[in-house]
Amino acid sequence: MKIHEYQAKELFRHYGVPVPEGYPAFSIEEAMAAADKLAGPIRVVKAQIHAGGRGLGGGVKVCKTKEEVKEKASQILGMTLKTHQTGPEGQLVRRLYIEGGVDIRRELYLSMLLDRDTGRIVIMASTEGGMNIEDVAHNTPELIYKAWVDPKVGLQAFQARKLGFKLGLSAKAVGHFAKLLASLYRLYVEKDCSLVEINPLVVTGSDDVIALDGKVNFDDNGMFRHNDILAYRDLDEEDPAEVEAGKYDLSYVHLDGTVGCLVNGAGLAMATMDILKHFGAEPANFLDVGGGATAEKVTAAFKIILSDRRVQAIFVNIFGGIMKCDTIAEGVITAAKQVGLDRPLVVRLEGTNVELGRKMLAESGLPIIAALDMKDGAQKAAAAAEKFAASGALS
Ligand code: ADP
Ligand code: MG
Repeated sequence: MKIHEYQAKELFRHYGVPVPEGYPAFSIEEAMAAADKLAGPIRVVKAQIHAGGRGLGGGVKVCKTKEEVKEKASQILGMTLKTHQTGPEGQLVRRLYIEGGVDIRRELYLSMLLDRDTGRIVIMASTEGGMNIEDVAHNTPELIYKAWVDPKVGLQAFQARKLGFKLGLSAKAVGHFAKLLASLYRLYVEKDCSLVEINPLVVTGSDDVIALDGKVNFDDNGMFRHNDILAYRDLDEEDPAEVEAGKYDLSYVHLDGTVGCLVNGAGLAMATMDILKHFGAEPANFLDVGGGATAEKVTAAFKIILSDRRVQAIFVNIFGGIMKCDTIAEGVITAAKQVGLDRPLVVRLEGTNVELGRKMLAESGLPIIAALDMKDGAQKAAAAAEKFAASGALS
């Protein structure tokens, strides 16, 4: 789960991580009220979307007067902000954050995340903050300093100080940095985070160390025990199809391709995506309906796939184990009847109750393209998607 910068900063404040004073605003009036509360004269208007790179996209503006705050807030609120993380369609800005201007001397980079190789939380810090950190990692990896935390003893003060000195901080700033890092580690562990990133972490003219940006992601599996974090959820920022899938407990990830996939089991779902790509098609989604899915769940899944107007063909690839093929057939038939099947449907069924499932589909009257096996199904789905797209039936 992702949250907004202003929410991340609220958590930072709570944990004692220094941040500038600032207030969220949902309207121009609120933005002006926020500007009034800030001492000024410099204030920064920041678009709140679940994507980074806002500065380069025109979503972060430093203002010298209150009139300018009004002007920039009016420009940014309601704009469709495009950054390298939003994709070409951009993201509508519905919330702003009005923050006091900070006297920046240096912009550093700091993050904390799980290193899957070691099974430990790794802290990454760099002198090259504010820029695209992926470029730094690629071109000058030696400028990223790392420290791994032993979960038995937690983050040690010497680790924090060592990182601080590598960043070239003064003795005073190293003290602030070590304290900030300890607070951040506590936040990461207590709130089941999967990523905390501060880019830039700034050193001010008076050698204070402040989080100027904040990105915090959480492990969805831990969210049942964090109602305070769940309250931060902003459904406007999430993919509607993924939100819908979440209601039915489906593992669904929206992708950019044209072949919709309905599969059981994460492994088979991955393999289905691979084999589609092998035959020159692009999957429109990852979807695992799970082992014990009901017909209702399958119906919901099928409807979600159909609701994606980029989908030019659907590939149902089921190996029935715990999952029964007749349940899949029932879900597919129900959904097709309810919303109408306007695109080619390729079905490959195997396993438990396969004969019954095939019979139900055959008698449903739906124009199903039956597949002999997975390879045959993938080839047929790829061909059907191409043919259907060429016919221009959906456009
Ligand atoms: P993003 O990473 O989405 O572009 P940031 O919050 O990192 O957004 O802001 C982009 C840049 O804007 C920062 O690198 C910093 O130079 C400047 N900036 C952001 N907030 C402030 C602030 N409160 N005071 C001064 N400059 C700021
Ligand atoms: Mg940033």
